[in-house]
Amino acid sequence: MKKRALSLLLASVMALALTACGSSAGNASTDAASDASGDAAFSTVTAGTLTMATNAYFPPYEYYEGDKIVGIDAEIAQAIADKLGLTLKIEDMEFDSIITAVSTGKADMGLAGMTVTEERKKNVNFSDTYATGVQVVIVPEGSDVKTVDDLANGKKIGVQLATTGDIYCVDDFGSDFVEEYNKGNDAIMALLSGKIDAVVIDNEPAKSFVASNPGLVILDTEYVTEDYAAALNKENDALLEAVNGALKELKADGTLDSIIKKYVPAE
Ligand code: GLN
Repeated sequence: MKKRALSLLLASVMALALTACGSSAGNASTDAASDASGDAAFSTVTAGTLTMATNAYFPPYEYYEGDKIVGIDAEIAQAIADKLGLTLKIEDMEFDSIITAVSTGKADMGLAGMTVTEERKKNVNFSDTYATGVQVVIVPEGSDVKTVDDLANGKKIGVQLATTGDIYCVDDFGSDFVEEYNKGNDAIMALLSGKIDAVVIDNEPAKSFVASNPGLVILDTEYVTEDYAAALNKENDALLEAVNGALKELKADGTLDSIIKKYVPAE
């Protein structure tokens, strides 16, 4: 009698354990359920994998350490993947290609210090925002460009192709005055060699570029403040829900804050 009760108990404990495994790791890939977001079923480009598209030349959000891509976005993506029971795979590409990779189903999520804009919303879903960015102006020390408005005096402005900095500068100062580069660092090199007068780029990469290139300064006047979010495929509302669910948990338990603080120490 006793023995039978024990084996029944064991059987139910094992059944419970199996269910727990199933919902936390095994089935979050093809058309499966997510444990972070409640009941939403989502699919990913490759079963069991969260494929992230980024441009890994945007420190401290994403950059190479040896042959590994690290940074705020890389860690947030890893934490999201962990919550959803997925393996993270990061694909590095031009910033300009990220939205296309997501909207044509080559990547699940664009995470690249990417600003939420109405224009981009036509092609992708955006998650809840996870950080704030500010477009700032970098000039050589002693430059006669002292404020954003001084850029209007026929200055040559370097930007990273297809970024919001590029879009705003073309709008405000005209495309004749804007030089587009594939990488932020290419714009910095052009600034150092005197080909252009200023670079407009997001504040955290700006700090990092200025720290590693003596002779450059960031103007005190900020150009535009914006929200960063993950870009997701428009057809995949379930993945959007799941990513938002994971982000909510990561905000609530302090993980998000500690990732950002690790890369952006308080001044
Ligand atoms: N935040 C800017 C944008 O979304 C730049 C992002 C980047 O260069 N990675 O356009």
